Amino acid sequence: MYKTDLEIAQACKMQNISEVAKRIEIEEDDLEHYGKYKAKLSLDILKKRESQPDGKLILVTAINPTKAGEGKSTTTVGLGDALNRINKKTVIALREPSLGPVFGLKGGAAGGGYAQVVPMEDLNLHFTGDMHAITTANNLISACIDNHIHQGNELQIDLEKITWKRCLDMNDRALRQIEVGLGPKSNGVERKDGFNITVASEVMAVLCLSTSLMDLKQRLGSMLIAYNTAGEPLYVRDLKIEGALAMVMKDAVKPNLVQTLEHNPVIVHGGPFANIAHGCNSILATKTALKLGDYVVTEAGFGADLGAEKFLDIKCRFAGLKPNAVVIVATIRALKQHGGVAFDDLKQENVEAMLNGCANLAKHIDTVKHFGLPYVVAINEFVSDTAAEVMALENWCEENHHPMALSQVWEKGGAGGIALAEKIVEVCEQPNQYHPIYEVEASIEDKIAVIAKTCYGAAHVEYSELAKAQIATYNRLGWNKTPICMAKTPTSLTDQDKIYGAPKDFTITVREFRPSLGAGFIVALTGNVLTMPGLPKAPAALKMDIDEAGNIKGLF
Ligand code: ADP
Repeated sequence: MYKTDLEIAQACKMQNISEVAKRIEIEEDDLEHYGKYKAKLSLDILKKRESQPDGKLILVTAINPTKAGEGKSTTTVGLGDALNRINKKTVIALREPSLGPVFGLKGGAAGGGYAQVVPMEDLNLHFTGDMHAITTANNLISACIDNHIHQGNELQIDLEKITWKRCLDMNDRALRQIEVGLGPKSNGVERKDGFNITVASEVMAVLCLSTSLMDLKQRLGSMLIAYNTAGEPLYVRDLKIEGALAMVMKDAVKPNLVQTLEHNPVIVHGGPFANIAHGCNSILATKTALKLGDYVVTEAGFGADLGAEKFLDIKCRFAGLKPNAVVIVATIRALKQHGGVAFDDLKQENVEAMLNGCANLAKHIDTVKHFGLPYVVAINEFVSDTAAEVMALENWCEENHHPMALSQVWEKGGAGGIALAEKIVEVCEQPNQYHPIYEVEASIEDKIAVIAKTCYGAAHVEYSELAKAQIATYNRLGWNKTPICMAKTPTSLTDQDKIYGAPKDFTITVREFRPSLGAGFIVALTGNVLTMPGLPKAPAALKMDIDEAGNIKGLF
């Protein structure tokens, strides 16, 4: 019987965070302690090391996952541990987990098995309060909008055209559409509203893309909130609250330092979802990590069609980052799903289906090549994989000349990732021609067409009437020269949940746009993707408990 992630994490004797920090030469003065095992990092670290060269940047991405996740965080953590084992000074840079999936279906985001980040409970729950700060800042805007209307609506906000939504870090379908201001006049003006999950809010995106506290303040001020009755856009700065918002975020803007089970440094900061947001940890965290380690391993959410595309087209472009290599995580179970096997039958051996499913892996490899980057396929081995399946996948990689390594980090920690680490070190030495796949100057339609054709394999993109009207508005207002943040289902290359493999000749439908002018991109919502998830029939919360001594159970 295997131990649960939580049991493994609880058995770890953590080092004091000062010890972890010392190994990457962080001075005690630059640490703000949150107890013994967590600390915020001063933004001065970046300034002090400005003239030092950056380490090598490795991005971990994946094929389209099953609904359970294919072990990207696990591989990121295990690869970081493995690189440290072969004496490469490595810092891991991850996103912060959201409570939505923690209580829902997928679980936390601290890695798994013997490749985890600790303290796992804290990380998956309230951590250092960043989610709280983001939620508060977001909802302060909503409160100020409704109060402004109640107090006479000097800005003449059009009640039908308020684009700003409230947010909460919870999967709560009942909040997708709500009415506020019900009851007596003193409760404010009645209007329709709705909630996003915090990780899909623009405040989260702004936090992740800011380069300093003052940049954060400026970006918060530039966020669109509504249109006035004359149809002109209104921004947070019109409410004059960007100072208060930046104040609320003063600590959230600082990256957090924790450790792996093997006591290697992990910077965890920012946590946008990659299906509905841009899906990468903060620029400040990645840049700080690059000054502290010779190698930095980071991840972008879901498959290369979502997280990696946005990492390479949005984050790296904005931050001037130049990645050195990409790890593409594949699991035999997900490949079998792509080859036509139902989720409940994925544990049964099926070499043929797995090989059919390799078309999905091939598409993601193709995408990474389009960005001009070298890669290694990491086969994240499950104990339920059979020898015949593993051999067939290894052969497929070899026959198609894809660099590959078997990863057993879930079972063995860093020791199970040595082969992957050695391959990655080799690949990082190769010269690469990294470049985003579209120019920001191109039209909105052209940019989306490039993404849909290159990264999804789509033949056409269709637009709803609403989306067409929005494009016309954005063209008129000059908002069209920004990157596009695609929102799409993560389980398929298409915009439909259950179409697996690597389909061809399909159409992507853009239903609606949301301008994130503070973050600096336009979100394109495709298919029926939602920005507030719901809970499954049996939420993970049902299995969780805590006893009198404070021992937690059921947190994965
Ligand atoms: P992702 O980052 O791709 O969403 P995670 O790394 O969070 O995936 O892993 C999702 C879940 O799968 C975790 O509970 C983790 O423990 C489990 N998992 C990952 N890799 C393996 C493996 N090789 N064997 C068994 N379980 C695994």
